[in-house]
Amino acid sequence: MRQWLAAFFVVLAFTCGMTLHAQQPRFHVLAFYTEKTEADHVDFARQALTFFADQAKRDNFAWQATTNWDDLNAANLQHYQLVVWLNDSPHVGAQRAAFEQYMKHGGAWLGFHFAGYNDERTHWPWFVHDFLSAVFLTNSWPPLPATLVVEDRGQPVTQGLPETFLSPANEWYMWKPDPRASKNIHVLLSLSPSNYPLGMKDTLTAGDLPVVWTNTRYKMLYCNMGHGDKIFTSATQNRLFKNAILWLGEAGVK
Ligand code: ZN
Repeated sequence: MRQWLAAFFVVLAFTCGMTLHAQQPRFHVLAFYTEKTEADHVDFARQALTFFADQAKRDNFAWQATTNWDDLNAANLQHYQLVVWLNDSPHVGAQRAAFEQYMKHGGAWLGFHFAGYNDERTHWPWFVHDFLSAVFLTNSWPPLPATLVVEDRGQPVTQGLPETFLSPANEWYMWKPDPRASKNIHVLLSLSPSNYPLGMKDTLTAGDLPVVWTNTRYKMLYCNMGHGDKIFTSATQNRLFKNAILWLGEAGVK
């Protein structure tokens, strides 16, 4: 009986240990979004929540999302290795300051589409000029698919991607200064010139248009995709998003 009990506890301890190990997430992600913005940007955010929550289960990381941008504070951010902005950016000084400190101390960031939008009302020079290194100039309209060029296929984010692929319908942003003008920016994907002219109401006719880039001074990635409900319809592009989360999540503060 005693031997049987001992064996039972060995098996029990082993099983609990395995369960604990399996439940330990690789990293913690906190995604910020808003419901109070352009409908197409809300559609994207809702689909992103589903997409990344599914990926979190498969790839064993913790995914949480909030519409409360006051959660961008130092005490809270210390629990997360990666912050994601799905369809907005912080507009309050304290939130911005907390984010800047987080990034300067090894935090990681993934931003989509409108998260990088800026204009003369933004008044956040560190974010626009130092971090994102891109000033919004104009956009294409209506949302259309576009061929993208994968400029660097040796980076973890672009692993498994072809040289070019058709990205689903999106509103494409053009920037001036272009992020490529900054020595710290590494452009990973850009719009193929074969798309020009792109748009009908607002038409882009020429010019360099970086779509995905990283600032090598930070653990960050900006993706211009994020407008409407078609973004997650490309398996190729979904691979880019999955790669991005894993690369950034593993890189963020421990
Ligand atoms: Zn948009």
